[in-house]
Amino acid sequence: MKRDEALTRIAWHEVKKLTRDEAVAIIHAFFKEPLKPSLRQKLNLTAIIQWETHSPPENLHPGNPIYRPVLVDRMRQKFIGATNDYLAAYLREKMGMTVDAVTGDLPDLLACPVCGYKTLTERGTWHTCPVCGWNSDPVQEARPDESVGGNAVSLAAARQNFAAFGAITREKLAQVEPDGTQKYPREGR
Ligand SMILES: [Zn+2]
Repeated sequence: MKRDEALTRIAWHEVKKLTRDEAVAIIHAFFKEPLKPSLRQKLNLTAIIQWETHSPPENLHPGNPIYRPVLVDRMRQKFIGATNDYLAAYLREKMGMTVDAVTGDLPDLLACPVCGYKTLTERGTWHTCPVCGWNSDPVQEARPDESVGGNAVSLAAARQNFAAFGAITREKLAQVEPDGTQKYPREGR
């Protein structure tokens, strides 16, 4: 199966598992973010007009099909950097599908400076690594012993902590993806 199809199937499966509150939160975030051309193409006019006025309806109904592309796109993003093996295993184990392999190129994500997994679309822009919980802070990345910034620990301490127990701090351990080390490719592989 092609990677693009695998991502779409998994995204739909994940949308079905969302709680109402999770779906509402995703749709509210959509109203605050720039609208990607690829998503705009999939939305109907009502949703686009709502987005342009930045005003979600008072009684937002997350099950309304006009928001379905927003939810699917958001779920897709969660898997955009996952390896083909991970996607194939997901389709087999969580969706019961018969899939030999998933094929296609991965996006060229950047390696996290702490854990080394390729999880970041940009470095130094405060994106959070889903594997270790590092918040990509440009000052802390330039000064590895600086502990004031986007993270409660320095880059050097974060690396030690990740090696010791799998996250940059004990507090972040609950927030990282439990199977993150299986999901993303590591630099150099
Ligand atoms: Zn990381």
